[in-house]
Amino acid sequence: MSHWSLFKFGGASVKDADGFRNAVRLIQAYGQRDQIVVLSAMGKTTNTLESYLDARDQGDIRASETLLKDLAMAHEDCLKDLGILDDTLIAELKAIWQGLRAVKVEWSYGERYDATVSAGELASTKIMAAALEHAGLPCHWQDVRSWIQTDGRHRRATVNWATTQAAIHQGLQSGLYVTQGFIAGGPDGQTTTLGREGSDYSAAIIAHCLKAKTLTIWKDVQGVMSGDPQLIDDVTLLSQIPYQEAIELAFYGASVIHPKTIQPIQRNGSQLHVRSFKDPEQPHTVIGDFKKLKPEVPCWIEESDQVLIEVSTDDLSFLQEEHLAQVYRVFADSGVMVNLAQHAAVSSLFCVRSDRVAIPEAFEALDQSFNLTIEEGLVLTTVRRPDEDAHMWLAERGEVLLEQHHGDVTQVLLRPS
Ligand code: ASP
Ligand code: MG
Repeated sequence: MSHWSLFKFGGASVKDADGFRNAVRLIQAYGQRDQIVVLSAMGKTTNTLESYLDARDQGDIRASETLLKDLAMAHEDCLKDLGILDDTLIAELKAIWQGLRAVKVEWSYGERYDATVSAGELASTKIMAAALEHAGLPCHWQDVRSWIQTDGRHRRATVNWATTQAAIHQGLQSGLYVTQGFIAGGPDGQTTTLGREGSDYSAAIIAHCLKAKTLTIWKDVQGVMSGDPQLIDDVTLLSQIPYQEAIELAFYGASVIHPKTIQPIQRNGSQLHVRSFKDPEQPHTVIGDFKKLKPEVPCWIEESDQVLIEVSTDDLSFLQEEHLAQVYRVFADSGVMVNLAQHAAVSSLFCVRSDRVAIPEAFEALDQSFNLTIEEGLVLTTVRRPDEDAHMWLAERGEVLLEQHHGDVTQVLLRPS
């Protein structure tokens, strides 16, 4: 284990100048001497950049320019609010937005997407580095695209661990670093991304490569709770979570942790802390090499935006291995995430996560061979260690479309009532 430690701040924690000020305070108070800060884009910037790209693709230049101008202004206003009036920095931010105009229509969608959304993290980290300097904390601003190396697959690139490890160690100095989450560098130096909400994963990759002692993800919640407090009464803080349990919770959709985050952390035996940026002294969650979940209570995970896809064939011969293999091949190629599947004699049901690009792409590929029906707006509820109450509660939530039990996990796909 090394002396490095990692902090990750998400978009909600740096949505405005107060957010940056608070993050700087936390880095001052809890950071180590050798500290890497991984940052998301400010607030909902990634969504806005997606809308900007859509508008541009549709030829709606006026809409796209307005979106971009508003983003540029919000970032500049934030700098001013922080009392940073550095012309060089303002010019650097302008260059980031200006750079989006170099994104070419003839590039693939993925290429355009990655080149566009990366502006959010580049800009937010520029502001963070300046805010730290302003508070008397000198730091290195690091372009993560020369640290995290991936294949050339856009929008969900795969990490090349060996080259990433070497790149991070090369020229690494002691001290404080600020770098971007979510984005990475492809084989030809092009920008890639690791999937939406991927900044936790970025931080875990760097933590792994540096054998960091801890990674702290600063959140707007106390830690990982046993369920969504807006949904369930009596949720409790999970104070200690074994790696395996954390992987499962994230896999089933516990939104506080990105599913890919735990594995790189576990491989080192590092600890992952999930902690409140609003109230850092509150008890929080530690994910680590523990024997048991503490406290050992039922855990609830609810994922909305689920889509049910039914696949069948005209000749009622659906359930053949080749057909299933074909369906899964298409899902894997287009990036459709299957959360639950059920196979019957003449059709198969797949509960998948809504995705405005992946699902239409998969649909087009499957449409020639199969009959397809689709229902959107569903909710997938997963309960670990369900008790009597849990079963009753589930039945009242809506119409059950799919139900599955394995081990101590119950999953129900609901059409909300
Ligand atoms: N900014 C990116 C997103 O909104 C990555 C992240 O926040 O984790 O998806
Ligand atoms: Mg986020």
